[in-house]
Amino acid sequence: MNFYVDKIKNNGLKVTPRRKAIINIFNHCRVHLTPEDIFTRLKEEFSHCGLPSVYRNLEILAECGILARIYRFDNKRYYGLCHSADGAHHHHIICIKCGTIAPLKGCNLFKRKKINGFKIIDHFIQVDGICKNCQE
Ligand SMILES: [Zn+2]
Ligand SMILES: [Zn+2]
Repeated sequence: MNFYVDKIKNNGLKVTPRRKAIINIFNHCRVHLTPEDIFTRLKEEFSHCGLPSVYRNLEILAECGILARIYRFDNKRYYGLCHSADGAHHHHIICIKCGTIAPLKGCNLFKRKKINGFKIIDHFIQVDGICKNCQE
């Protein structure tokens, strides 16, 4: 938890009970979740908790590099806890069955300034797969 608390502080943000609770939920279940999933779980602890503030906090935690935004084909938003300890540039691999998320390292795309004449601004990579548990 301290590791994540430091990340929030390093981004000049406040460590609020809600932000801590959100991280705890992800830490506990280890799979990707929608804002609605988080909202349902937070309501048990915080009676005055609105869905818009959940959306906001998830985006803030994603900006800090604590959560990763996950893309699925059902058009819902998903987030997963980023387990990378060093904060170096990386992407994520997602289990399409259970939603487990793991870091995917070794991306060299940032070293390329141009591709096919395009000046590269940014890139997004997500690898979908089936985790060890789900293969059995
Ligand atoms: Zn799985
Ligand atoms: Zn990359």
